[in-house]
Amino acid sequence: MRNTGSPQWGPLQSLRFRLHLALTGSRRYYDVHAHNRFRRHRVNEYELLLLTNVRIFDGQSIFGTGAVLIEDGKIKQISSDPSLSIPDIPTISKPGHTLLPGLIDCHVHCDSANPTALPQSLRFGVTTVCDMHNEYPNIVTLRKQIAEQGDCADLKTTSFAATVEMGWPMPVVLAHSTNPHVKEELALWPKLEKPEDAKGYLANRMEEGVDYIKLMHESGGLMGGGFNMPSIELQKALIAEAHANGLIAVAHALTKKDTLEILEAGVDGLTHQFCDQPIDQSVIDAYRKNSAHLNPTLAALGSLTTEGKDTQEKFAHDPRVQHLLPEEARHRVCACMAMAKEGGASVEYAYEAVRQLKAAGVDIVIGSDAAGPAVGTAWGLSVHHELYLFVKHCGFSPAEALRAATYLNAKRFNFPDRGQIKEGLRADLLLVEGNPLEDIDDALNLRGVWKEGVLCSTYAGLA
Ligand SMILES: [Zn+2]
Repeated sequence: MRNTGSPQWGPLQSLRFRLHLALTGSRRYYDVHAHNRFRRHRVNEYELLLLTNVRIFDGQSIFGTGAVLIEDGKIKQISSDPSLSIPDIPTISKPGHTLLPGLIDCHVHCDSANPTALPQSLRFGVTTVCDMHNEYPNIVTLRKQIAEQGDCADLKTTSFAATVEMGWPMPVVLAHSTNPHVKEELALWPKLEKPEDAKGYLANRMEEGVDYIKLMHESGGLMGGGFNMPSIELQKALIAEAHANGLIAVAHALTKKDTLEILEAGVDGLTHQFCDQPIDQSVIDAYRKNSAHLNPTLAALGSLTTEGKDTQEKFAHDPRVQHLLPEEARHRVCACMAMAKEGGASVEYAYEAVRQLKAAGVDIVIGSDAAGPAVGTAWGLSVHHELYLFVKHCGFSPAEALRAATYLNAKRFNFPDRGQIKEGLRADLLLVEGNPLEDIDDALNLRGVWKEGVLCSTYAGLA
């Protein structure tokens, strides 16, 4: 046992002496405050856990090799002493491994409250997903799943996006589904008409406990269709109402024209990079004017234009993922949406746009747009795909890409309790073998995933 009296461990040392551990049958009790306030401590959920001898990426930068103490689902302490030991606390020592904040996917759709979405995300190290348009009854179901089952990523949501009659994505959903249940769901969508509707829309969302507002600003230009669109006045009213309620507003747009319009309306972020034409200075200026962020969804764009097929297959066939998602899902990753009918759309425009926006200081965040019916993506896996594309095509270092999927997502979406390995934050953690800060491919060497300090059962037996 190591002497824990090194100076940087003052508080931990005192914690050590304040811990009075005793085993009573299968339950463990301790008195953390040296008073008589005993709390139940279930050993199998690791309410206290020490991770040692790990390389730590804290979400912003490389902390070096150290140790992390988890208590009651939160990060209690971080030390630069990698080989700390504290008696009677479950300890996992993982030399040659890297500990990261749990990944955040800022763009998914858990369609029809698909019970696969949250567990599959978690298995891939994604501890939080942001649903970007769903029917509220589905959100209720998903929240219940989280409350009642283990092994689920946490869910953030906009509930219903701010949709208009026969506006995005209604025509596409109708064209791709004959399921009568889908028609019932569409009937629930907001059919906003005028700026005065914004207040009522926001009031409904606030009642549902949403985390941000999603706008749809899609002309259908890329898909050869003229879709009904919300007016600029309506979008401005929605953004103003979102801000009045302390929420950010992010928007879907797939063409340069739609993107410029919605940025001009004052939106806080985009949920896609356009790929109908190259970026120019007007777009960069518009982003900078709003301090807006971009979630480019590069993997989904590659599926949309079919240029991403090779990379989709690389990820679907990776031997490390075969046990993490069903065969049917792996087949779907290999297929392409191929919806960009207008000639000239290219994912290369999106890569170049991300490079230029990054150089201009625009925050670029990672979200996959993974959805049940969509092909080319898969919950969880596609975040790794996106990390790879950021590094391979967009000039991101591995650390910058990982920051975009952790710290930066939490910062942009105002989730102050996560996204970093920092004392007091949720113990949402990802352990991988190797060093993804040197080779982003190592991020798929998944060895452990914790949500609020609880180990995902896929990784049970980790010791
Ligand atoms: Zn989406």
